[in-house]
Amino acid sequence: MTNLAGKIVAITGASSGIGEAAARHLAQQGAKVVLAARRFERLESIVAAIKADGGEASAIPTDVTHPEDLQKLVKHAIDEHGRLDVMVNNAGLGAVAPISALLIDEWDRMIDINLKGLLYGVAAALPVFEAQGSGHFVNIASVAGFNVQPNAAVYSGTKFAVRAISEGLRQELGRVIRTTIISPGAIATELGNGTTHEESVALLSNFAGIAISPDAIARAIAFAIGQPSDVDVSEIVVRPVAQEF
Ligand code: NDP
Repeated sequence: MTNLAGKIVAITGASSGIGEAAARHLAQQGAKVVLAARRFERLESIVAAIKADGGEASAIPTDVTHPEDLQKLVKHAIDEHGRLDVMVNNAGLGAVAPISALLIDEWDRMIDINLKGLLYGVAAALPVFEAQGSGHFVNIASVAGFNVQPNAAVYSGTKFAVRAISEGLRQELGRVIRTTIISPGAIATELGNGTTHEESVALLSNFAGIAISPDAIARAIAFAIGQPSDVDVSEIVVRPVAQEF
């Protein structure tokens, strides 16, 4: 048994990619996972697979651009399990394109999902963590939160902001809660489907050649959660060996 056994973990963006891999891996380690995303049928089939494997999981339809959905997610965890130990703010959109393409709607969607959606997750879970006197935010940023690349300026901006907000959380509330920033490099998921900009699709296919399994990020999340309660794994970067930046 690890320190994950019995932990109640809510995961946004759990219908594919990193969120799905995290849900499956954490459940295998004994955590009780609550899966959240918009595609509820996919969540239900992942929950069924986890249960068939002997794990404990449930799902709730969640759009992170609606603060009330995050409130319902946290309430669902409390109703089912009596507490919430970890909130994994993972939902994200990678609508990469050059700024000059002026895809304002996609800028809005990235800011709404990657940045405001994460803040709504914090707003929903923080009062519970404070009342419990414990809790853990695992916020998924990106290597794009360290380095700006052409075609990814707005996406990078959201991920720089995720790192800044997460570090602020850690400083302000470190005595009560743990905060972990996890910054993946190129990971083989559906994130590349997020852009409508044709040249950027080609750019992303370069990354696809070196991308590694989302299981690598699931293991990093498990490592951070599994530490003793007085240990805060503040930040982890995980990228393919073949990735330069
Ligand atoms: P996927 O596209 O596979 O997963 C994204 C997840 O976010 C899906 O489950 C999707 O579910 C969910 N999501 C998107 N919009 C919303 C919304 N409005 N409300 C609720 N859920 C939403 O990509 P990844 O697994 O790669 O992405 C996970 C995180 O990892 C993101 O934050 C991404 O920025 C980050 N990341 C990924 C990297 C990579 O190379 N793949 C690299 C660096 C960071 P649904 O559509 O069902 O709502």
